[in-house]
Amino acid sequence: MLERIRIILIGTSHPGNIGGVARAMHNMGLADLALVAPRCEVITQDSISRASGADHLLHQANVHATLEDAVADCTLAVGASARSRTLPWPMLSPRELADRLPTECQAADSRVALVFGREDSGLTNAELQRCHAHVHIPTNADFSSLNLAAAVQVLAYECRMAWLNQADSQANAPAPVPSADDALATHAELERYFEHLERTLIGIGFHDPDQPRQLMARLRRLYLRARPERMEMNILRGILSATEKAANTKPPKP
Ligand code: SAH
Repeated sequence: MLERIRIILIGTSHPGNIGGVARAMHNMGLADLALVAPRCEVITQDSISRASGADHLLHQANVHATLEDAVADCTLAVGASARSRTLPWPMLSPRELADRLPTECQAADSRVALVFGREDSGLTNAELQRCHAHVHIPTNADFSSLNLAAAVQVLAYECRMAWLNQADSQANAPAPVPSADDALATHAELERYFEHLERTLIGIGFHDPDQPRQLMARLRRLYLRARPERMEMNILRGILSATEKAANTKPPKP
């Protein structure tokens, strides 16, 4: 289970924090670290010293240009946020998130992403809207923002506790493994669907990109809440293609 959990840091600006995250992860048995457009060097004296012996995680970290690239193969993405945002999104406590992990990580090709934001400005609305759910670590409402590595530590600890509890209960009854037929759509498949949906809605005159009125954000929230399976995603894309064809808006094949 722990190897299916990816920690993603977006736009980090202090190498020491990245080192602190590596240490927090290795302490809790997590190893998959991804960095999206870091705003500092990753391997520095500071990051290595804060990693305190977990610097192999820094060397093997994958660096991506965009969040989409970092979550492309993920079946669940959860954004960690210190603040509440304009459009309410499904919210989890760290414990509720951890309780879901054993089931979420059962299928062989499942991947869970925990996404963390910038030290100065957190995650943007667009980034949060790419996540199925948000997790908030309950803190003093007047002083809610944790240091990045401290926030990773809290969630990594909850992951480990869920894994330890699972190991205990598995000794009694092994959980059934889901079949490949009901594999969840990956993030990349969902993104392709959202692009196709937006194109179709513009084509049939339902959506005006100059007056978006959060339509795509609301639709994202709906589909992410439904957790479509790959097969269902194919049906929905087929419906879009048929809609485009019927409305004669399908772009010609290059
Ligand atoms: N100043 C930023 C927070 C930066 S802290 C803001 O106001 O949004 C860096 C990152 O740590 C955040 O983007 C978030 O991913 C995580 N984090 C910090 N405190 C958190 C909390 N209480 N709950 C969940 N995540 C938190």
